[in-house]
Amino acid sequence: MNYYSTNKTAPLASFQEAVVKGLAPDKGLYMPETIQQLSPDFFGMIADLGLTDIAKTVAEAFFGGDIPKEQLDAIVTDTLNFDIPLKKIEEGIYVLELFHGPTFAFKDVGARFMARMLSYFVKEQQQEDVKVLVATSGDTGSAVANGFLGVEGIQVFVLYPAGKVSHIQEAQFTTLGQNIVALEIEGTFDDCQALVKASFMDEELNRQLNLTSANSINVARFLPQSFYYFHAYAQLMQQLSAEKVVFSVPSGNLGNLTAGLFAKHMGLPVHRFIAANNRNDVFWEYLHTGKYSPRPSVQTIANAMDVGAPSNFVRILDLYNHDHQAVSRDISSKRYNDEEIRTAIQNVWLTSDYLLDPHGACAYLALKEGLQPGETGIFLATAHPAKFRETVEACIGSTISLPDRLAAFMQREKESYPLPNDFNLLKKALIDLS
Ligand SMILES: *Cc1c(COP(=O)(O)O)cnc(C)c1O
Repeated sequence: MNYYSTNKTAPLASFQEAVVKGLAPDKGLYMPETIQQLSPDFFGMIADLGLTDIAKTVAEAFFGGDIPKEQLDAIVTDTLNFDIPLKKIEEGIYVLELFHGPTFAFKDVGARFMARMLSYFVKEQQQEDVKVLVATSGDTGSAVANGFLGVEGIQVFVLYPAGKVSHIQEAQFTTLGQNIVALEIEGTFDDCQALVKASFMDEELNRQLNLTSANSINVARFLPQSFYYFHAYAQLMQQLSAEKVVFSVPSGNLGNLTAGLFAKHMGLPVHRFIAANNRNDVFWEYLHTGKYSPRPSVQTIANAMDVGAPSNFVRILDLYNHDHQAVSRDISSKRYNDEEIRTAIQNVWLTSDYLLDPHGACAYLALKEGLQPGETGIFLATAHPAKFRETVEACIGSTISLPDRLAAFMQREKESYPLPNDFNLLKKALIDLS
C-alpha cells in the first residue's frame, strides 16, 4: 500500500519509506491511500477470536501487500505478548486496560510493533541501519526504548528534560544500555522536541545518519493501535450484545483516537467517540467552535496529555475532508482540570473499588458525563496507576505497591549523557555516539 502526505505535495511513499522517513518531505503526515473494509464474516465471528487473531486480520488489511503474511503474523504475535482485558466497572461502563505491557503504558503496543517492523526492513529488505530519535516527557521514551531494546541495526536516542520526568519513568529508559542512549537535556520537554525537529531538518545529519521518528506521527507506531479497539469490541460482545458502543479516549497528540477512527472506517461498529482532554483543551475547543488554535501546553497531573499542538490533528482533518460537521458527528469532547481528575480517582476507588490513573480518570469522567441512554461505554486506561504513584496515593489516602517488573527498573544503574540545550552540541553527540 502506498502512503500520501496530508500536505499533498510530497510523492507517494511505500510503507517502508513512510516508516523509515517518519515525516513526509513536505512536513505532512503519511496516510494510507485506502482503508480496507473488513468482511461481515470477520465481524460475525469476532466475539470468538482472541487478541492476536483479531490483530493479524487488521494488520493484514493495512500491511498485507508489503510484507509476507508469515512474517507479519510473527510480528503481530511477538508485539502482543500481554493481555488487554476489558473489565466492567459500573452499569454500562467498561474499562479497557492497555497497561499490561513491559512499560505499563499503552504506547508499548505501537512501539513494539514499529521496532519489529523496522527490524524486518533492516534484516530482510537491505534497509540501511536506522537511528530513531525520540523526545519524551516520560512515557514515550520508556515504551520506545524498551520496544527497541536489543534490536539489531537500530540505535535509539531518547531526549528528555533533566529533572522533569519522574524517577520511575527515567529509570525505564536510562538503565537499559545496549542500543539505547539517553540524552539528558538541560531544558524543557518543548526544547527536546525542538531539538529533535532541528535534527530532522539538518541535511548533513540526515546524510550521515538515517534518522526516523518513533512518535505517533510514524505510521508503524500509530496504525497498530487500532488492533485493540477491535479486541475491546469482541470482549464486549462476549458479555452482551450492545448496539451503541462509545469509546472514550484520553487524548494528547490524538494518535490513539485517530487509530480508533481508522477502526471505525474499517467497519468496526462504533457509535461514536469521546476525546477526553485535560486543561490542554485545543481539540475540545476545535470541536466546540470549529477553530483550531494550537498554543503552548500547560502542566497537569495527566502529563502525557499535556499537548498544545496535537500532531495527529491533521490526520483527523484529512480523514473527514476538513469537514468540521463530519468530525463532530463521530467525535465529541470533554475537558477536566486537576481537581476534577483527583475527585474521580477518589470516587471510583470508593464506589467501585477500582484504581484509575489520572489519564484513565479523565476518560472515565468524559464517559460518565457524556453517555446517553441506550449506549454502552468503554474508556481506555492508558497507564498503570502505579506509574503515577504519588498523585494516586494522595487521592485515595493510602499507599499502593509497585508491580515487581516496575520496581526492578528502579534497582538498575542510571546511565545518561547530559547535554545543554544546543543543537550543534547535540549534532556532535549524535555523530560521536553512532
Ligand atoms: C501518550 C499518552 C496519552 C495520549 O495519547 P495520544 O495518542 O498522544 O493522544 C494518554 N495517556 C497516556 C498514559 C499516555 O502515555
